[in-house]
Amino acid sequence: MSTKDYLEKDYYAVLGVPKNATAEEIKKAYRRLARKYHPDANAGGDPETTAKFKEVSEAYDVLSDPKRRKEYDEARALFGSGLGGFAGAGARGTGFPFDLFGGVGQQGAGDRIGDLFSGLFGRGGRTTTTRRARRGQDIESEVTLSFSEAVQGTTVSLRLTSSSACQACNGTGARAGTTPRVCPTCEGTGAASRNLGSFAFSEPCRDCRGRGLIVDDPCRVCEGSGRGKSTRTIQARIPAGVADGQRIRLKGKGAPGENGGPAGDLYVQIHVRPHRVFGRSGDNLTITVPITFTEAALGAEIKVPTLGGMPVTLRIPPGTPNGRTFRVRGRGAARKDGTKGDLLVTVEVAVPQHVDDEMRAALEKLHDPKEGADLRADLIKQAQSE
Ligand SMILES: [Zn+2]
Ligand SMILES: [Zn+2]
Repeated sequence: MSTKDYLEKDYYAVLGVPKNATAEEIKKAYRRLARKYHPDANAGGDPETTAKFKEVSEAYDVLSDPKRRKEYDEARALFGSGLGGFAGAGARGTGFPFDLFGGVGQQGAGDRIGDLFSGLFGRGGRTTTTRRARRGQDIESEVTLSFSEAVQGTTVSLRLTSSSACQACNGTGARAGTTPRVCPTCEGTGAASRNLGSFAFSEPCRDCRGRGLIVDDPCRVCEGSGRGKSTRTIQARIPAGVADGQRIRLKGKGAPGENGGPAGDLYVQIHVRPHRVFGRSGDNLTITVPITFTEAALGAEIKVPTLGGMPVTLRIPPGTPNGRTFRVRGRGAARKDGTKGDLLVTVEVAVPQHVDDEMRAALEKLHDPKEGADLRADLIKQAQSE
């Protein structure tokens, strides 16, 4: 993402949130739109929807990262929202888009601004002629894991499609065996200057559309665009303890860089299938275990299953009420620091559904009608007192 993107694109509008939206609002908006435009949800991979999905992901990348969001807000505040504000800045005798930022730096506007705009040199239209190192694209992907895989970590195969230089023409856009020629209008700079009274500023050259090169015989494979698609399968390590809905970043697993630039990053949206027995509450796993009335009343040692391990013994103290939760330390999901959360065991007193004569006799012996009445007598009295 370049600074030029920052100025051209209104990420708040893309996500449909106000400029002062909270991190939570941004996340919500992104999830809703990502679901709506996700390629898998749109059979046939409608290109417009795919583009929309990319746009939404890009906006979320910037706005969800507090540091990048701040840079973005600052860039737009400095130069107005949109490139219209830029032409004005360029009017101070420097050219747009390629000379402006050097000029700003020289005018002492500060290194911060220089940093802010350094991206433009690397990613502007001039790269075609100067062959600067270019960072590879970030790629979005998603994966559905089983409950255990999410808790314990796993390695998954991901099939990734990214745009890359067209292989037939090596990204030049010219038919194999031919070479593009330098644009005579702009002499390869990609920029044309225009005078407007006392203002002089430059804009992308119209003849070569800012590329600095003209292709007379376009590549048949990419129709002259120089861009191609490449598909590859990678093995990605998913760390232990990921949760449903989480989005993880795998550094350097995105599209390869060009001209020696670093690879982009891979973002993986995680989906987790529910488990029949275990639930998840942050780092803790949860389970509901049935116990008998006798075990609850008299106390017992019961066996409780753990995820991916042997059952553990849990001591139920005498007089345990229905619904009480016990904690088994260290049997939950992995945390980032290598420790583990706990297993939260909730006991549920099971009421027998089928009672034979022997059981009936035992239960009736246990049941004291007087005590049964007393149990609710206080409640009834209190309800009537007001
Ligand atoms: Zn030109
Ligand atoms: Zn091509």
